[in-house]
Amino acid sequence: MLSETKNLTWPEFQALSPEEKKPYFNENGKIFHCLHSQQFDREFIDHIYKLTNVIRSISKSKKGALFLQGLMPHYKAMLYFMQPSTRTYLSFRTACQILGIQTSDVRDASISSEVKGETFEDTIRTFSSYFNFIIMRHPKEGYAEQAAYCLNNSERPIPILNAGSGKDQHPTQAILDIYTLIRSFEHHGGLEGKTIILAGDLLRGRTVRSLSKLISFFPGTKLILSSPEKFKMSEDVISFLKEKKVHYTVSHEFVKHLPDADAIYMTRVQDEHDTGNDKSEKSFPEFSLRAEHLPILKEHCAIMHPLPRREELDSAIDNDPRAKYWRQERNGMWARAALMSHITGYDQKIMCYWADICKQANHTADI
Ligand code: ASP
Repeated sequence: MLSETKNLTWPEFQALSPEEKKPYFNENGKIFHCLHSQQFDREFIDHIYKLTNVIRSISKSKKGALFLQGLMPHYKAMLYFMQPSTRTYLSFRTACQILGIQTSDVRDASISSEVKGETFEDTIRTFSSYFNFIIMRHPKEGYAEQAAYCLNNSERPIPILNAGSGKDQHPTQAILDIYTLIRSFEHHGGLEGKTIILAGDLLRGRTVRSLSKLISFFPGTKLILSSPEKFKMSEDVISFLKEKKVHYTVSHEFVKHLPDADAIYMTRVQDEHDTGNDKSEKSFPEFSLRAEHLPILKEHCAIMHPLPRREELDSAIDNDPRAKYWRQERNGMWARAALMSHITGYDQKIMCYWADICKQANHTADI
């Protein structure tokens, strides 16, 4: 059972560690609300990896696509996006379409009753009256957690999926990123032991914060955290890496690390989080990957970016076979469909359907 939070006030709940919060977000040991990447473990990632591949394969035939669309037509999802989004919004929406889930959205606070003074809690409870999932992006860190806290104490605790919470976390992006990394090294000895550069605005980039935590599940993986001094990875992530014994280097250089990298994860300057008069530059030229760097990269190096990009990733790289960012954005759709089917338990039906197909075709269900 999903533990209720009734005996805790919101400040008390907020003060719990990610580990202590787990029983409030997971049900029967399984993800219910998907709020931050500390909720995941290696077993979950391996399962989602397989499930994503299976959904991708089943969708290729009309019969398979119709099977998937027939799974959840009685489910409805609210896409509540209070910050700009192209990929996350579209990939969640198409993931819903893959599974037959109907969607509605609120993307503009000015057309929500919040302008009439309705509280955030009442807005969330209202969504829960009509929908089976709330997929939310909010500029304020902690709001997705607050929504989960609020619904745990209501008569309709439906799953909250965090689609980006301020500077803090982007757990479903981390799922698709780790999926892309595992897939990229499938024929290159696996992700274990690989060297990954995370570059750019590491302080305010929620994607790199969430992804770093998942990298800790892959023994021997080395992280190079490459950023200007002012935007270096924050202490909470560094202590997490230390605690999990992840080999990491903090560096304020970029190009010199390129020949060592098996994967390079670029990020843009997150200047929407600038405060007061301290305006950051639009891009950091010394932390840019350009076509002239391609000859020094390893042959199998995976070049990634959560997008949108600015000048930190040269478009002249787009057609290089090592550029994985377009696949990465497409992987987001399959991986998010996998996550939603897992939360609702429909993943079992999908795996059985796949096993039957493989039996009929006389090949192994391993994927
Ligand atoms: N799309 C990603 C995010 O929402 C990366 C970015 O905006 O730079 O965090």
